[in-house]
Amino acid sequence: MKIVICASEVVPFAKTGGLADVCGALPPALEKLGHEVVIITPRYKTSNIKAPTPIVHIGENVRVCFVEHNHYFGREGIYGEGGGEYQDNLERFTHFCHESFRILKEIKFSPDILHCHDWHTALIPVLLKTNYHNDPFFKNARSVLTIHNLAYQGVFPKNQYGKLGIDGNVFHTQGLEFYDQVNMLKGGIIYADAITTVSPQYAKEIQTYELGCALDGVLRNRSQDIYGILNGLDYDVWNPVDDPFLDFSYGPAVVNENKQQNKLVVQAALDLPLKENIPMFGFVGRLCIQKGLDIIMEAVDGIVAKDGQVVFTGVGDKKYHRMIEDAAQRHPRHVGKFLVFDERIAHKIYAASDFFLMPSLYEPCGLGQMIALRYGAIPIVHKTGGLADTIRLYDPIHKTGNGFVFTEYTREAFIEAVEESLKVYKQKAYMEDLREQALRYRFSWEKSAKEYMRVYQECLS
Ligand code: ADP
Repeated sequence: MKIVICASEVVPFAKTGGLADVCGALPPALEKLGHEVVIITPRYKTSNIKAPTPIVHIGENVRVCFVEHNHYFGREGIYGEGGGEYQDNLERFTHFCHESFRILKEIKFSPDILHCHDWHTALIPVLLKTNYHNDPFFKNARSVLTIHNLAYQGVFPKNQYGKLGIDGNVFHTQGLEFYDQVNMLKGGIIYADAITTVSPQYAKEIQTYELGCALDGVLRNRSQDIYGILNGLDYDVWNPVDDPFLDFSYGPAVVNENKQQNKLVVQAALDLPLKENIPMFGFVGRLCIQKGLDIIMEAVDGIVAKDGQVVFTGVGDKKYHRMIEDAAQRHPRHVGKFLVFDERIAHKIYAASDFFLMPSLYEPCGLGQMIALRYGAIPIVHKTGGLADTIRLYDPIHKTGNGFVFTEYTREAFIEAVEESLKVYKQKAYMEDLREQALRYRFSWEKSAKEYMRVYQECLS
């Protein structure tokens, strides 16, 4: 099958979150199943590319085509700068979508599947059924839209509709119109041949009023064509056995000792007291309401009171930057922070932490908890979306489960889960057992890629 992956961020070129990890890992997994895959992505000023453009080959046989446009993509940020979004994001990503069709013709790649991701590429399913409806080059093509996070929809004032370059008027309730505005994601949901999201649980949740972000009705209308496919993790990139960013690498045999060594490294870097046997709670993620920071910040004093250390890595909303800085000032011996986006630091935090805080308000899939398991950091999660699909409550008696899970999104329930984790931490044998179990978990891309193939086949049949 000929498959095109169109996305605004792809590892190793550009990344702000899990979308990039997925779009970097799925193409080689599809290629290994014997399919021809082309990636199309913008070339940003910050993109990590050494080869010539517009077309370079990476890895196996996956081809990558970059859309170049100095005015649109030659900037410091991907979606914005200094906490704000670029004002012309509609134009930027509209250009990207139109260019994707042009590039495919240029490289003579007549696709079976155009697989788009999030609102930035949601115009592609619309264009396929309008501008390219009668184009023989795209005669066999079907489109799949993956929603990585329903909260980001690409909503713009209606006077921008004309800039989309769509043949015919689809600014109506069965098209891109949404409360008298343009909604890019809605267009994709209506026009794509299939819709996927990144976990089975989130596929159900987005069709409910509570988590449907005002598109639940539109999604329910397409419920026959919605699939939940859990993301895999790239176990080569995330591998504590030979992780170049770690000072002390480890596999199951030395996880307990070397985690402590990595902990000392992080404590030293943050000027925290050097103590191997203090429980360390790590956070790595975007600093936004989604990631449960409100209840984390309410629990910090309690964790500190029990002599736990909390270490934050992230960038995002100013409000949370301030709250974390306050907590670090209040508890200089227990709270540390790296308020940056830095791959190296993230690896070190996963490796050093005993527990990983991910009490997300909602979570489409979440990679943080999978990475944490890989590094023997035990996730503490809210039972929602992909977290509910991947983390099960640890039962020390039957030795089942891989983390700590709470159901109600409240400070009390979260604190209770943290307290449970501290109880297990005190029982060395249980803690070591739990850690060894964590290291054995696998969320394989091969399995996910096969599920995507089934969706593609369904679209083509
Ligand atoms: P989301 O896609 O909602 O941001 P995920 O858990 O799916 O959340 O993926 C987050 C990814 O981004 C993980 O690979 C995580 O390690 C990485 N990440 C998040 N914040 C940072 C940071 N400040 N520095 C380095 N990596 C980060």
